[in-house]
Amino acid sequence: MTTPSPDEAPICSARGCRAPARFQLRWQNPRLHPPERRKTWLACPEHRASLGDFLDARGFLREVVPLPGSPTLGS
Ligand SMILES: [Zn+2]
Repeated sequence: MTTPSPDEAPICSARGCRAPARFQLRWQNPRLHPPERRKTWLACPEHRASLGDFLDARGFLREVVPLPGSPTLGS
């Protein structure tokens, strides 16, 4: 069993993907979860659309928020 260390970069939740996550997809299944409950998937830019579409097609997707803490280049 592996314990994620807090200072490790979050990884995309898509199956088999090891890319750093850049987005949080916050969702809720009304048949399983109370209205205030939010589940969170993490997504890299490549999987943000496919994971989002998967949730949206089922009416689960509530919001997508950018992950803070991404290193910014330049400036
Ligand atoms: Zn990914």
